[in-house]
Amino acid sequence: MKEILFMKPVLKNMIWGGNRLREFGYDIPTETTGECWAISAHKNGDCVVKSGAFAGMTLSELWDNHRELFGNVDSDRYPLLIKIIDAKNDLSIQVHPDDSYAKEHENGSFGKTECWYILDCDPDATIIVGHNAKTSEEVKDMILNERWNEFYREIPIKKGDFFQINPGTLHAIKGGTLILETQQNSDITYRVYDYGRLQNGKPRELHVQQSIDVITAPYVPDALDSQVTETIGDATITKLISCDKYEVYHGFVDGTVKLTQDKSFQNVSILDGEGDICGTPLKKGDHFILPCGFEDYCLNGKMEFMISNLPQ
Ligand code: ZN
Repeated sequence: MKEILFMKPVLKNMIWGGNRLREFGYDIPTETTGECWAISAHKNGDCVVKSGAFAGMTLSELWDNHRELFGNVDSDRYPLLIKIIDAKNDLSIQVHPDDSYAKEHENGSFGKTECWYILDCDPDATIIVGHNAKTSEEVKDMILNERWNEFYREIPIKKGDFFQINPGTLHAIKGGTLILETQQNSDITYRVYDYGRLQNGKPRELHVQQSIDVITAPYVPDALDSQVTETIGDATITKLISCDKYEVYHGFVDGTVKLTQDKSFQNVSILDGEGDICGTPLKKGDHFILPCGFEDYCLNGKMEFMISNLPQ
């Protein structure tokens, strides 16, 4: 199958969003557009195929009716979701459940393992990953007594940093940060603390009990010791992570590189620059799926890109 499945992104207004998604060529609906759901079959943002034999079909329809495109993977939904996040302001401090908690408490939803590649950020930008409580009892005490400054672990970030956020990890993307997120196909977030902000005059809902249920203690940073950078043709490609939900690769090409799509399927995002794939033009902001059996292809031009697939 040599069909490239280009996706039409779904753009979302968020109280913390900005207007930087315009840099990717998107027609953003508001000046507070926080998320681009770039490759998604979730009901809250189901991408439509832009062109080719399957033009006009949603990714969920393709998954349900043409599973051969995806190597006949046994899953009732497209397993991954790719987003670009423009956080002009801070996101709430939050946590996600794992598959078993979500299945039981969230109508059979997937849990959410996610990871972040920092595309750009302000010079003094930070994020929150993890907490300082030693036990689950201390987690509960710090939340219920609002000991926020003692509780969360806030660290400086720079362009090119990468973070794996396992279920149960307290986290928050902070303002001035542009991120490519690869995650499970899930929209379940438990909000622990929202800095007392109001949306339409009201605070957003918090999920204190669920958060206490799922936050793991103590926090242990992911070692990320499997990262390997390779030079292939005119490209430099780094394997950022391999976990039980996905594998994620980041690359730069300046010239040409021959690659092989030999997985069940792969998600590809063009993060910067322009060029082509097998003669089909590519530019910053394009997102597409290479289906099962795509096999050998060339990327030509000057581009930064991200590739993800299921663990093999
Ligand atoms: Zn999250």
